[in-house]
Amino acid sequence: MKYLSTGGGHETDLVGAIIQGLAPDGRLYVPEALPQFDPVELKADSIPEIATTLLEPFFSGSALAPSLAEICREALNFPIPLRSLDARDGPVAVLELFHGPTAAFKDVGARFLAASMERALPGLDAHDARPLTILVATSGDTGGAVAAAFHRRPGFRVGVLFPKGQVSPRQQHQLTCWGDNIRSFEVNGSFDDCQALVKGAFGDPAISSTHRLGAANSINVGRLLPQVVYHAAASLWHWREHGGTANFIVPTGNLGNAMACIWARAIGMPIGEIILATNANRTIPDFLATGDWQPHASIQTLASAMDVGDPSNMERLRHLYPALVDLRDRIEAYPVDDEAIRDQIARDYERYGDIWCPHTATGFRVYDELPAASKRDAWIVAATAHPAKFDNIVEAIIGAPVDVPPALAALLERPTHVEPIEADLVALGDSLEAWKYN
Ligand SMILES: *Cc1c(COP(=O)(O)O)cnc(C)c1O
Repeated sequence: MKYLSTGGGHETDLVGAIIQGLAPDGRLYVPEALPQFDPVELKADSIPEIATTLLEPFFSGSALAPSLAEICREALNFPIPLRSLDARDGPVAVLELFHGPTAAFKDVGARFLAASMERALPGLDAHDARPLTILVATSGDTGGAVAAAFHRRPGFRVGVLFPKGQVSPRQQHQLTCWGDNIRSFEVNGSFDDCQALVKGAFGDPAISSTHRLGAANSINVGRLLPQVVYHAAASLWHWREHGGTANFIVPTGNLGNAMACIWARAIGMPIGEIILATNANRTIPDFLATGDWQPHASIQTLASAMDVGDPSNMERLRHLYPALVDLRDRIEAYPVDDEAIRDQIARDYERYGDIWCPHTATGFRVYDELPAASKRDAWIVAATAHPAKFDNIVEAIIGAPVDVPPALAALLERPTHVEPIEADLVALGDSLEAWKYN
């Protein structure tokens, strides 16, 4: 399988796409063709088995192909249950993506990417003994997932950059509790400053020649591919048990999770409609409504991991459906503002005892507002994070404590360490310089 830049100018294999992250033209890699599967012929049932079967064509011809089964077993080693919800307006289930080490769906992509990169590394430059230093800017969940995935992995170090005072207390704990080969830089600035620093480090001749830098951004195809798997698995489980397709609602920020769902349908999985739920950052719903692509600076909402005003994966979606009429035919999107998020969390707790994180709540709001006729069909709503991660928001809304899952509780007991830095490249360069190789 070749991977092509959406800009058209570059092609590489899977290892190249994973290691480079972005194509040299600054655009995103997409598979040159999507393989087709027939659900009738698929026998795999567990997540690692389904992953190994579905991802085989995506790995074919690359140095990682022989390791695929092992990567799937190692990375996808936690439950991703599909739980039916009773007493609703129609058949609806929640796909719980938050049972990994940092309690958000980003664990899936980060762990898969780390397992793939570790196996790709020896083939890259045998003469370079320096570890790969992965720099990741985060507004919350990505940094923790990437740190957890690379923690104590030989050959790698991770520098996590997060904006001071702008992540939830528990998110901050997850960004700063690792030690060993992970460093956490608390940047005196915004998330955009953090991103600019990472970009600047790659572009800085001194920094990029002293260190061997690598990226693990959410646009990496090595993070999208495993996300295809759980959407595929949920649709297959539903189809085997009930017959017929299931419709999906996916909380959406940068469009990574939803893009993976769209690819799952495009390779032949029994998925019907796909609806994207955004927060008040409504670039995608507005685009579908008006046909005008108007990215804007992100605005802060309760569902902070979805605060994206210029979703980068839109490029992949438009590559798949270049014509607006096809796009509108295949995808719907609705925005959910903070007031509706609060209301949905309170309401579903009162009615059903279910507790959603603010991101997941956007999905259930969209479900609630479907027309009654549509609710006769089967729906699956993706739950992207555990509510205990956002206890500071959720507990105040429901007026009750949220139980902390064991994996998260264990992390919260680890001591933390942060390194405050100013939002400038010299400060980052000095900190990296002082971070001795060992
Ligand atoms: C990252 C994230 C999202 C948004 O996912 P995208 O792939 O960026 O669309 C939603 N919910 C949570 C909890 C997240 O961490």
